[in-house]
Amino acid sequence: MKDRIPRRRFVQAAAGSAALAWLGSGQAPTLFSAEAAKPALLGGTPVHQGGWPGWPGWRTAWESPILDVLRSGHWSSAGGGGRAAEFEAAYAKLLGAAGCVATASGTTALLTALHVMGVDAGDEVIVSPYTFIATYNVVLMHKALPVFADTDPATLTMDPASIESRITDRTRAILPVHIYGMPCDMDPINAIAKKHNLAVVEDACQAWLAEYKGRKCGTLGDLGCFSFQNSKHIASGEGGAVTGNRVELVDRCHAFHDCGRAHGTFKGRGCFSRGSNFRMTHYQAALLLQQIDKLVTETQRRRENADYLTAGLKQIPGIQPARLPENSRAVWHLYPFRYDPAEFHGLSRDKFMRALSAEGVPCGGGYHEQYYDGLLDEAINSRGFKRLFSAERLKAYRESFRELSGNRTVCQTTVGLFNTLLLSERSAMDHIIEAVRKIHAHSAALAKTS
Ligand SMILES: *Cc1c(COP(=O)(O)O)cnc(C)c1O
Repeated sequence: MKDRIPRRRFVQAAAGSAALAWLGSGQAPTLFSAEAAKPALLGGTPVHQGGWPGWPGWRTAWESPILDVLRSGHWSSAGGGGRAAEFEAAYAKLLGAAGCVATASGTTALLTALHVMGVDAGDEVIVSPYTFIATYNVVLMHKALPVFADTDPATLTMDPASIESRITDRTRAILPVHIYGMPCDMDPINAIAKKHNLAVVEDACQAWLAEYKGRKCGTLGDLGCFSFQNSKHIASGEGGAVTGNRVELVDRCHAFHDCGRAHGTFKGRGCFSRGSNFRMTHYQAALLLQQIDKLVTETQRRRENADYLTAGLKQIPGIQPARLPENSRAVWHLYPFRYDPAEFHGLSRDKFMRALSAEGVPCGGGYHEQYYDGLLDEAINSRGFKRLFSAERLKAYRESFRELSGNRTVCQTTVGLFNTLLLSERSAMDHIIEAVRKIHAHSAALAKTS
């Protein structure tokens, strides 16, 4: 597809369009013929062929440590030690955290952290609405109300300016989400928490190795929570972790995830305290220990490719890559950008995504406005919630979803590229940019067809 037209013709075709900006820039990607080629959705040849890396990948070298666990007969991490403890130490070191507790999932990591930070029945937790549904559910499971802060359309994360007006005398914690591996602006969030004496639990379930001002996500609040579910960048089928900088808090998490058994500095009352069984098996830990180096190398590759994509895509009118907080680095569980149909002759986002997929670039629309799905109605209409909250509070709560205008914008205008695309060669990034340019060049024709 590339270099099929002579440079002079390309320059003519590109004149007046943003493509020309590349010609003078130091890091110009390969020239291409976006304006000349017919969109794949209208019968043209797809820009990208040959597919993308699959997920998850595994290596033969991982087999023997897993077999060792099998043959040891020591499969459960109850009682401590073994591969699970080794993984906890390695993951804490990787993040620069004081401690880590390996859990059965990201969801159970969040449940643990919220309990340890004192979230109780009838409390309120300020949550980012733009997230996987588990972030809502863990608050509800504690019989607390997930009160949504708004989303900043420029960053796709919790807008710190929207937090304070949502604090009530019931608010106990703030639960920001580093969505798609993009760090939230944690300094203002932590400052508000400190001012109002609130806990901060980071949902870092998509943010392994993401950085904010020189520190890793998951070490920026009181406790951080990670997921190692099958689709995540470091995966053991199911799995998770809680991390933190205060050993005393991490020990309490350990106790809670191990049926409430005393652990380390947390002695309980000499007997069980409240807790559950949220333990990781040694099989999962053995699998995760093998992947730390892989996570580090792949993160580097995703970052380099994401930076290259951002430089290319932001030249195209109507495409706005996400803004990161100053001095921070994302890890891109999804590569998102905001799409403006007005710059594409009114081509709807859905149609744009269909056209992009047809070019061989798989993409999706990200999260929708999940608070209208009925999950929260079911919760607040339950016997328990009606006992715990006044009818006025629940009514005002339900009505407050309408105020989430930033989140609505994000839900309606975001397009996300799946993270395995970022593990491809640099030439494949050129294909992505070329595909979007092609759709832009032909948006009038695309918008006319059904
Ligand atoms: C994956 C994920 C979770 C839940 O993790 P599980 O391991 O699937 O329980 C929570 N929050 C976010 C943002 C996630 O992406």
